[in-house]
Amino acid sequence: FMLKTEHIGIAVKELAISIPLFEKLLNSKCYKTELVENEKVNTAFFKQGETKIELLESTDPNGVIAKFIERKGEGLHHIAFEVADIKAEMKRLQDEGFVLLNEEPKPGADNKLVCFLHPKGTNEVLIELCMDKKPV
Ligand code: ZN
Repeated sequence: FMLKTEHIGIAVKELAISIPLFEKLLNSKCYKTELVENEKVNTAFFKQGETKIELLESTDPNGVIAKFIERKGEGLHHIAFEVADIKAEMKRLQDEGFVLLNEEPKPGADNKLVCFLHPKGTNEVLIELCMDKKPV
């Protein structure tokens, strides 16, 4: 089951511009930046109550975030729901007819395992499931 809205992902052209912008907007400091190599993104995180804001900057002109900005411009990219058991939730959603963009949970930013749902099945909103990686 879904626990909460964990974070909202926003595609930006330049973190160097958007981090100070969101610091002003939220009146709180960016508490972490993290390169996610396999997704070709630089991320920056803000805490806003229970929910985080994740800014996403492409590190590669052919990366998914660069492509997204090319098509739609900067802006809302995805909503991430925290789940208790990502594999169980992936199976439940697949059984309900949703299309998963990755068949296995993959490593995401912020020490998470993540799975994305195809936006064509979710009113064009990219949905991410995420779960904290278990400490090894
Ligand atoms: Zn995310």
